[in-house]
Amino acid sequence: MQSSVVLRAVSSSKPLTCYARLPSVVSCGVKHYSTNHDADVVVIGSGPGGYVAAIKAAQLGFKTVSVEKNETLGGTCLNVGCIPSKALLHNSHYYHMAHSGELAERGIEVADVKLNLDKLMQVKKNAVKSLTGGISHLFKSNKVTELHGHGKILNPNEVAVLGPDGTVTDTIKTKNIVIATGSEVTPFPGIEVNEETIVSSTGALSLKKVPEKLVVIGAGVIGLELGSVWGRLGSQVTAIEFQNAIGGVGIDGEVAKTFQRILTKQGMAFKLGTKVVGATQEGSNIKVQVENVKKGTQETLDCDVLLVCVGRRPYTNNLGLEELGIERDEKGRIPVNSRFQTVIPNIHAIGDCIHGPMLAHKAEDEGIVCLEGIAGGPVHIDYNCVPSVIYTHPEVGWVGRTEEDLKNDKIEYKVGKFPFAANSRAKTNNDVDGFVKALADKYTDKLLGCHIIGPGAGELINEAVLGMEYGASCEDIARVCHAHPTCSEALREANLAAYSGKAINFG
Ligand SMILES: Cc1cc2nc3c(=O)[nH]c(=O)nc-3n(C[C@H](O)[C@H](O)[C@H](O)COP(=O)(O)OP(=O)(O)OC[C@H]3O[C@@H](n4cnc5c(N)ncnc54)[C@H](O)[C@@H]3O)c2cc1C
Repeated sequence: MQSSVVLRAVSSSKPLTCYARLPSVVSCGVKHYSTNHDADVVVIGSGPGGYVAAIKAAQLGFKTVSVEKNETLGGTCLNVGCIPSKALLHNSHYYHMAHSGELAERGIEVADVKLNLDKLMQVKKNAVKSLTGGISHLFKSNKVTELHGHGKILNPNEVAVLGPDGTVTDTIKTKNIVIATGSEVTPFPGIEVNEETIVSSTGALSLKKVPEKLVVIGAGVIGLELGSVWGRLGSQVTAIEFQNAIGGVGIDGEVAKTFQRILTKQGMAFKLGTKVVGATQEGSNIKVQVENVKKGTQETLDCDVLLVCVGRRPYTNNLGLEELGIERDEKGRIPVNSRFQTVIPNIHAIGDCIHGPMLAHKAEDEGIVCLEGIAGGPVHIDYNCVPSVIYTHPEVGWVGRTEEDLKNDKIEYKVGKFPFAANSRAKTNNDVDGFVKALADKYTDKLLGCHIIGPGAGELINEAVLGMEYGASCEDIARVCHAHPTCSEALREANLAAYSGKAINFG
C-alpha cells in the first residue's frame, strides 16, 4: 500500500514522482523507509565518467539521477587521483626549486627554506574540496538529482540505492542505466597495505611525514609521479620495476630512456627487470625482498615507507551484474559494444570499468558520446587519439603510435625531432631537458604519433591530439603560425623536421 505524493527534488526543476512508502525493512526496532523516483537515466558512480555523463544526460533533456556511494562526488580522479596528486606535484616542485638552490641560481635567494607538510596537505585538500563541491554545484545547475549510497541494479529498469547498513534508501525506475563505477587499487599478493607505512597511491597522497627511504613497487605513471613528490620533499626514492623500462604502457622507448636518465639525475634510483618477492615490517623498518628477473639474484632493500603501485582493476562489486547475466572479461571489465551497451541494451558502461586506458579524460569522453548515443546520435571515439601524460618535471606526454608500434606493424615512417635545448622559450626559462618527436607516415606525411618529454608536455601534447583527430600531416602543423617565444614552437619544429627533413633552429 503506497500513497503517492509529488516532491520537487532539491536539484531538479522537474517534479520527481516519489512514493511515501510503508517501511521496507525493520531492523533493531528501526523502521527504514525508501523513496521511489522516476528517471530517464540513472548514472551509477560520479567519477569523471559518471559526473560528465550525468550532466550531458540532463543537458540532452533526460531526467537524470546520479548515484554515488562516497560522501563526495568526483570519484578516484578528484578525491584520490588526478587532482590531489597534481596539487602535491605542483607545490613540491616549488619547494624543490627553493630548497635545492635552483631559485638561487635564478637570482632569487630565499633564506631558511622550510617544508610545512601540514599546509602542503591542506592546500591539496582545499583543491579537492573545491572541485568535488563544484560538481555538486554543476549537478544543481544542470538539474541532476544527486543521491548518495551504493547503487545496485535490480532489473534493467530499476536501481536501488543502499545505505551503509545495506538497507534500501531509494529506488529509481529508469529507462536507461549508465555504469561508471571506475576502478580500485590492485593489491599485491602477500603484501598487506595499511595506508600508514605500506601504502597504496591513496595513502601516499596523505603521508604524515616525509619518509627517509621510500621504495615504490612499480615505475609506471602513478609510481613515478608520487615517487617524484616525495623525492622532492626529501625522501630517498627507489623504484622497482618488473619491466626493463619506466613509464608504463604506451610510452615510446626513446622517451622512456631519456626520462629515466633525467629522473636518475634528480636522485631517483631504479631497479628495472626486478620483481618484488615479499616485504616484512620490523618495527619502523620495512624489508623488501627483490629478485633480478634475468639473473635470479636476490637482495633486500630497507625503507620506512613502501608504496605499492602496480595498477588498478575495475570495480564492479555488488552492482547486481551476476543476477542480470552481465559477465565480466578476464580482467574484470564489463564488455560493451561500440555504443557502450552491455548485453542488456539499455544498460551501458563507461570509464575505468570497461576496456581502454584508465584515464579521466577517456572516461569523460565516453560519458559524453555514450549519452549522445542514448539520445539516438552517432557514437565514435578514436582511442588512438587519447593522450597520456606523466606530470613529473619535466612532463611526459604522448599520443598515437610509438616507434616500436610502427616497427611491429611494419609501417614505413619518418621521424622529426626537436630538442628543447634549441627552443628559445625553454632556454630563456632554463628548462631545457627533453625533446619533441613527431612520427609521420613516410609517404603521406600524416602524423601518426607524437612524443614529448619537456616543459609543459602535458599542455603541448593536446595540439598533436587535435592535429591527429583532424588527420593533419606534419606539414599542416608546421605551417600553422605559432606564437613566439613559446615551447609549442618545438612541436612545430619537430613537425617541420618530419615533413621537410630539417628544422630551422636546430641541426
Ligand atoms: C593517484 C592517481 C593519479 C591519477 N592521475 C591521473 C591523471 O593525472 N590523469 C588521468 O587522466 N587519470 C589519472 N588517474 C586515473 C583516473 O583517476 C581514472 O582513470 C578516473 O578516475 C576514472 O574515472 P571513472 O569515472 O571511470 O571512475 P572513478 O573515478 O573511479 O569513479 C567511480 C565512482 O563510482 C563510485 N561507485 C563505485 N561503485 C558504486 C556503486 N555501486 N554505487 C555508487 N557509486 C559507486 C565510486 O565511489 C567512485 O566515486 C589517476 C589515478 C590515481 C589513483
